[in-house]
Amino acid sequence: MELANPQPMGNSVPSHKDIARARAQLREALECLVRWAEDLQECGVSRVECDPAALSQLTVPPTARKWPQEQLAKIARRIAQCQRCPLHRTRTRTVPGQGNPSPELVFVGEGPGAEEDRQGLAFVGPAGQLLTRLIRALGMTREEVFIANIVKCRPTERNEGVRDRPPTDEEMSACLPYLHEQLEVLRPKVIVCLGATALRGLLGLHGISRLRGKWQNYRGIPVMPTYHPSYLLRAGGEGKELYWQVWEDMCEVLRQLGRPVPERRRPS
Ligand code: URA
Repeated sequence: MELANPQPMGNSVPSHKDIARARAQLREALECLVRWAEDLQECGVSRVECDPAALSQLTVPPTARKWPQEQLAKIARRIAQCQRCPLHRTRTRTVPGQGNPSPELVFVGEGPGAEEDRQGLAFVGPAGQLLTRLIRALGMTREEVFIANIVKCRPTERNEGVRDRPPTDEEMSACLPYLHEQLEVLRPKVIVCLGATALRGLLGLHGISRLRGKWQNYRGIPVMPTYHPSYLLRAGGEGKELYWQVWEDMCEVLRQLGRPVPERRRPS
């Protein structure tokens, strides 16, 4: 398969970012091709001539290109209307999660905090900033991955909208169908569960200290449980023992994705 407009590389070695971008483009192109074939099938087409001249004419229908993005937007619109649990009464904004609609990697956290509730975006408060620095130190960007939570509205003590608390089992059960739907659309190669609540919500497993760093499975997708960034912050943040444990777990994730594993270094 030849790309339409190959960029001259000269003698330079492509960087990891170039390779990651090319991989993501190829993945998106293949997904578009599959959607395009499915669209044709729905229209009753059962056979397509594929000579090189015909292939060079091939354009991806806009519906196919937008498919994951549109599906995610539809789910987010339903979340915005949701009243399945009492958290809707105290929320400022729903936080469906955001990022690459066709990611290799999805992070799943617990639920929005104050800043996330204000902005409607996942992991944008202090814990989110640590997560961003970790992602960067591992040679990735936030835009490459998708970041979501078990619950999409902020849980607070006595639902007063002041002090954060973990979601109850009822709140998690009410909200989890949204995450399952999102993961169905995202189809990542790896999921990282950030903390005990993510591990319990997604897989029904208890014991983050025992299970961190040990591969689990969600509907055929490898899952790496690790500590939550808020826990790392409470333990002193970057450079402390717990931070390096998370670093090691994330290096396992990089190996699973076939990506280069960077030297141990403190994020900047
Ligand atoms: N903690 C989470 O689990 N999720 C967020 O989005 C922010 C903080």
